[in-house]
Amino acid sequence: MADGMQNAALKIFSAKIEELSDYQDIPKFEAFCMQCPNYGKKWACPPHFFDIKSFFRGRRHAHIVAMKIPTDTFAGKGGNIDVWELAKKITDMARLEFDELLLEAEKRHPNSLALFAGTCANCPEDVCPRENGLPCVRPEKMRQSLESLGYDVAAISEEKLGIKMLWAKDGRLPPYLTLVGALISNEPEAALAQAELHRLIR
Ligand code: SF4
Repeated sequence: MADGMQNAALKIFSAKIEELSDYQDIPKFEAFCMQCPNYGKKWACPPHFFDIKSFFRGRRHAHIVAMKIPTDTFAGKGGNIDVWELAKKITDMARLEFDELLLEAEKRHPNSLALFAGTCANCPEDVCPRENGLPCVRPEKMRQSLESLGYDVAAISEEKLGIKMLWAKDGRLPPYLTLVGALISNEPEAALAQAELHRLIR
């Protein structure tokens, strides 16, 4: 467990994928992605080279997983970097645990698919090879995010997991940061048992 992550907490919500359809608006969220510098520059980001609507074909259940990371232990530890950079450093550090947790769950549950909390984090490449038309260097650790598939992650987090997502504001970190990912599978219940998830949070 990385420094500062000891108090991170996980929460899970499971639903049939069609029960989340009210939260999906592909054109709306792709328009947001278009304003991001990563748009079209990372393989995890839109525009995707697959049909989003059929991406989950054969898998019926979504297990949404949130990691809530208290920021109090990081306050004042950013040196000269601004608060947005500090928030990114914290979430990148948390992603080392969170991505691994989802990938391990994916391995344990046949025909499941992990979705990450945002675009690629902790990639060894400074510039994604997509910019030069080359393949991902670590496809085994690259996954799309719910938001890149058009889901309103902030609304899902607040309404289904009871966690209002907060961002840095007025030069200050929020009290906590939140990662939201998912495991998509055919297993309706407890595909991600709490005990299994907490294996990495100890
Ligand atoms: S090379 Fe790195 S940044 Fe590019 S898609 Fe793969 S993991 Fe993401």
